[in-house]
Amino acid sequence: MATSTAHPRTSKRARQDGPLSRETVIAARQRARNYRARARAADLMGILCWVSVALSVSLYLAYSGSSQFTSPGGFITAAGIITGLAGTDLILLMLLLAARVPWIDKTVGQDRAIALHKKLGKPALYLILGHGLLLTVGYSITDGSNVIAETISFFGLGNDLLLAYISTGLLLGVVVTSVVAVRRHFAYEAWHVIHLLSYVAVLTALPHQLSIGGVLADGTLQRIYWIGLYVTAFGAIAVFRFAVPIIRTLRHRMRVERIEKIAPGVVSIQLAGADLRRLGAEGGQYAIWRFWSRRTWWHAHPISFSAMPTDRTVRITVRELGRGTSRLTRLRTGTFVSIEGPYGIFTDQARTSPYLTVIAAGIGVTPIRAMLEHAKLRPGEASILLRGSDGSQQYLWQEIGQIAKNTNASAFSMLGPRPRNYPTWMSAHALANNITLESTFPHLHESDLFICGPAAWANEVLADARDAGLPEKQIHIERFDT
Ligand SMILES: Cc1cc2nc3c(=O)[nH]c(=O)nc-3n(C[C@H](O)[C@H](O)[C@H](O)COP(=O)(O)OP(=O)(O)OC[C@H]3O[C@@H](n4cnc5c(N)ncnc54)[C@H](O)[C@@H]3O)c2cc1C
Repeated sequence: MATSTAHPRTSKRARQDGPLSRETVIAARQRARNYRARARAADLMGILCWVSVALSVSLYLAYSGSSQFTSPGGFITAAGIITGLAGTDLILLMLLLAARVPWIDKTVGQDRAIALHKKLGKPALYLILGHGLLLTVGYSITDGSNVIAETISFFGLGNDLLLAYISTGLLLGVVVTSVVAVRRHFAYEAWHVIHLLSYVAVLTALPHQLSIGGVLADGTLQRIYWIGLYVTAFGAIAVFRFAVPIIRTLRHRMRVERIEKIAPGVVSIQLAGADLRRLGAEGGQYAIWRFWSRRTWWHAHPISFSAMPTDRTVRITVRELGRGTSRLTRLRTGTFVSIEGPYGIFTDQARTSPYLTVIAAGIGVTPIRAMLEHAKLRPGEASILLRGSDGSQQYLWQEIGQIAKNTNASAFSMLGPRPRNYPTWMSAHALANNITLESTFPHLHESDLFICGPAAWANEVLADARDAGLPEKQIHIERFDT
């Protein structure tokens, strides 16, 4: 449908004006309760992070720290130990946040967990650098030597300190390469390999903590705390990033069954396997897929389910973006596929309101398509707007139109380029016709708004939703850029 104005795509635009039905109200209350439970769990997660850092410092002070505050050198040394403990604690929390623990994913979503992981990166690095600096200064004051001589003398203390320096160097490399401006210069896979060095950094720092730091002294609570934190962080990684995906992959034995070109540069890949409903995927979720062919085995991609799995099949829809996805469009049938996931809370479960509004652009339709299929929608409950800059971008629109028809949803399409000199998610034509979110979706304020599409475009929809006064808890965005 080549039009540049938001207009009904299906003739049936059932509006449920007037009072909401009893079931609608009950369902909305249940959603609100679920939301509050998730919000409490998310708060608890934040509190636990702070408690963990506070505990690491308090335990040190309780066992040995206070005795060091008797001289300027001792004071600075103790400050150095405290920054080291707080920094190590943050790094272990960062590993935990990136370990894809199901509870964390279900509570705040993997994207928010990773956002917090990223936020902690710089403070952790500064604390570790401060640790090295303060200890060197503290010891040099106590020993009456200068900082350079003190640094050289550290190397005489054995391999453990050398490893600690290597650890700091690795950490520095990991954080610097994660800064957006620097990261842009690396292929995703190269950056990912460098990032994995953070595990090595934590492990190489461990010997000096044992031999010099003394935090694992026998019979102390401090020992129990640190062993517990290390075991939890590395245990979570071993279980959720390695064991669970391997078991799931072997259990479901997926292979590429069919590749269907649905538009220039876009394919739907159907995978066949065993007992696939047991993946427990919800509509709107994604998984990290690895295709075991000669040209693709070394890169895995996060891709949303574009249809709900049946017992035997799963479907994803992929748009060629870079070299990796371009190779996926040319996979051979029979290629073995491994899976990590499903992950994400861009699902019906995240809703808090009686109505559902979705706006999707380009390949952003994929999670929306599966979410609409999975959600048990009442007639007229959903409103859908599909956006493309030209007719070639109507990926899966027909399927979504069919779901809209079956559920009596209001469906709109908006085709046409954005205006050149005005930031908006709308087409120039829609803008000229004074189309707004509120004019298109009369139930906007009683809706959860789900947005998926290119980053800059999605940010414009988000800005409009906020301007319209939609509360944050009713806005859900799936971002394809990480
Ligand atoms: C939650 C989520 C769901 C997605 N769902 C879909 C979908 O249904 N259909 C679809 O076509 N695309 C989807 N994407 C986008 C898709 O993952 C990227 O387009 C693809 O990984 C790009 O790889 P490339 O090698 O072709 O491009 P590159 O040029 O290597 O990368 C382009 C961009 O993709 C990012 N990227 C590459 N590999 C990964 C990776 N393993 N993990 C995270 N980011 C990566 C890079 O950081 C870069 O920003 C999704 C992304 C996310 C995060």
